[in-house]
Amino acid sequence: MPHPRVYSAEGFVLRRTDYGEADRILTLFTGTHGKTRAIAKGVRRTTSRLAGHLEPFTRAQLLLATGRDLDIVTQAEARERFERIAGDFWSASAAWYIAELVDRFLEDADPHPRLYQLFVETLRRLDGYAGTDSPRGWMALRFFELRLLDALGYRPGLRLCVNCDQPLRPENQGYSAEKGGAVCPDCMRYGARPLSLPALKVLRLLQGTDWAELPRLKLEPALRGEIEATLQATIRYHLERELKSWAFLQQAAHL
Ligand SMILES: [Zn+2]
Repeated sequence: MPHPRVYSAEGFVLRRTDYGEADRILTLFTGTHGKTRAIAKGVRRTTSRLAGHLEPFTRAQLLLATGRDLDIVTQAEARERFERIAGDFWSASAAWYIAELVDRFLEDADPHPRLYQLFVETLRRLDGYAGTDSPRGWMALRFFELRLLDALGYRPGLRLCVNCDQPLRPENQGYSAEKGGAVCPDCMRYGARPLSLPALKVLRLLQGTDWAELPRLKLEPALRGEIEATLQATIRYHLERELKSWAFLQQAAHL
């Protein structure tokens, strides 16, 4: 659907690059128009009316004009700033990570209003737990990953073996990113990774439960690592690349 010549949208900056003397090229994620690339002219000048409204982790109301190659940001007004995220290394790394996920998974001009809502809610969660030792920040990321996969049609199968369609018994299983989910012990072949029963249970819980209903789980580091690795295998399989922000996040977690 072509954009109208001038349109308003609420959104976030996912990525930005300095351009020319004072401009920036932005990758935006908006609720109504999906991912779009735009130029903010003069935004690096302190006198710019846009300056301060197009910062990372800031929900802004935008007015854009359709350009030939890039849209042009003509107005921006910050509506919500996640300042605690910016002040906490792990939370900032986590926020950049979900921004990179959206940037890599979404095509331009393909609106995903539910995913946008989830993105906003996840930033609020990361902001709320910033600087604390709460495992809820970790949960918020796994919840985001699973719901993102869901929204894009890559929901991992966790009830039936994705190879033979038999219900999974309560025992350790395998997991194949290529086949799209859990595989039963009979179907484990080269390429399937082990998936413990506790990890399968947590993944099912995250996939099938609203955020507010999720119990406060305290998971052992080894189990958290297994769940992370399972989801990363799926993400890497679909993106066919490593995410730069994932490496940062791993470092942040081990400080
Ligand atoms: Zn099977």
